Amino acid sequence: MIKKILIANRGEIAVRIVRACAELGIRSVAVYSEADRHALHVKRADEAYTLGADPLAGYLSPQRLVSLAVETGCDALHPGYGFLSENPLLADLCDQHGIKFIGPSAEVIRRMGDKTEARRSMIAAGVPCTPGTEGNLADLAEAISEAERIGYPIMLKATSGGGGRGIRRCNSREELEQAYPRVISEATKAFGSAEVFLEKCIVNPKHIEAQILADSFGNTVHLYERDCSIQRRNQKLIEIAPSPQLTPEQRAYIGELSVRAAKAVGYENAGTVEFLLTGDEVYFMEMNTRVQVEHTITEEITGIDIVREQIRIASGLPLSVKQDDIRHQGFALQFRINAEDPKNNFFPSFGKITRYYAPGGPGVRTDTAIYTGYVIPPHYDSMCLKLIVWAMTWEEALARGLRALDDMRLHGVKTTTAYYQEILRNPEFRTGEFNTSFVENHPELLEYSEKRSPDQLALAIATAIAAYAGL
Ligand code: ADP
Ligand code: ADP
Ligand code: MG
Repeated sequence: MIKKILIANRGEIAVRIVRACAELGIRSVAVYSEADRHALHVKRADEAYTLGADPLAGYLSPQRLVSLAVETGCDALHPGYGFLSENPLLADLCDQHGIKFIGPSAEVIRRMGDKTEARRSMIAAGVPCTPGTEGNLADLAEAISEAERIGYPIMLKATSGGGGRGIRRCNSREELEQAYPRVISEATKAFGSAEVFLEKCIVNPKHIEAQILADSFGNTVHLYERDCSIQRRNQKLIEIAPSPQLTPEQRAYIGELSVRAAKAVGYENAGTVEFLLTGDEVYFMEMNTRVQVEHTITEEITGIDIVREQIRIASGLPLSVKQDDIRHQGFALQFRINAEDPKNNFFPSFGKITRYYAPGGPGVRTDTAIYTGYVIPPHYDSMCLKLIVWAMTWEEALARGLRALDDMRLHGVKTTTAYYQEILRNPEFRTGEFNTSFVENHPELLEYSEKRSPDQLALAIATAIAAYAGL
């Protein structure tokens, strides 16, 4: 069994991994940039080491992270999500230094991280893919002729993209001509690769993804699906498990497809297979070879600790569950509480959390690294908290979501909280029928009033008095 893990990440996911280590009796090692010196993952881990002054360089340096793992006597490294989690060089370097990388092999990461290569693997395995180009595009002329063949609207996508960036819908040749150089430059800056490809745009699809787990003995299971259709600019805001919009037959089919996809590439550890659904058609979109932000809701409906399973698998242990024993119960929703101002085009709102009070009560979970007095650094993601609710029925889950969002007190920065309450009150959302255009089609949900609660007013007065008194 693994004894000591270096967590090559920060924020809530680093804290999440520390928690799994603590429950398994494994020693945890945090790393931090100077901007993160006062971050919760640093305080909560058993040991913590600085990566230096640069806010990003250390978190993005495979050499630095692996040599720290070696120096501090770790036998494994958990990459979390984002940063280097889908970088095959980190997995390779871990291998070379006898550090177990908690994730699939470098070869699988490389193959699935390249979206056109992943598509080819899936087509070969008989997993349906969206119609699109066979490989990357050579130039704009090829893009135009391929778009004509596939038919507009099309999606122009960065081959190494992620996080909802490097994707542009084009409805016509003119739009494609405009988007082409932009996506290339965006992809080069964000992902260090200029490769792009085309996919048919599935109009108003549902984003449905399946969680899979695979051990080193060839056991591969799925943990049902998540519905991530509530997105803004291809980025997820609210995630739901299981999807309230699937028939049992569709659920079984997507589960089976995801296991087939994982087996086809010799997958090991936790992963997510993402699909687009329209009517009865299901199309493979991509595979994420890491723990996902929204793994929490799957944990809530199945009772399976996904990070624990990741560590067990990496330790060479078999899966602790068999497919037939995996059940799901009730509904779980995750709200990505971002430090952003929805009324100002979701502009990031970094700064000091003057007060944070966690929501509680039955069926409520918060995964976060914030605390009262914490200053959100401007260098990283704006997601500052994940609020997860679970209840037996869809209606109860909605009521619990509204209640928990109301319970929470998070002052000092603007957040997406009130906006999510508007979504939860929306009749269309409540019927459980929505697609990836929901946010765009409901601009009126941004019209909520920013009425100050008595509590906020009291805080404003206290802050003013403190400032006056020079406290
Ligand atoms: P999930 O797929 O788990 O829902 P997101 O797409 O929201 O995750 O991404 C989680 C984090 O990882 C975000 O900070 C995002 O910017 C980052 N990320 C995801 N994919 C990549 C990538 N290919 N390159 C760089 N950063 C990425
Ligand atoms: P990322 O790696 O950034 O997560 P994805 O390929 O998963 O990129 O796409 C992100 C989102 O963009 C999807 O959830 C979906 O809403 C939208 N999208 C991607 N491809 C298509 C497509 N072919 N048709 C319609 N929507 C798409
Ligand atoms: Mg995706």
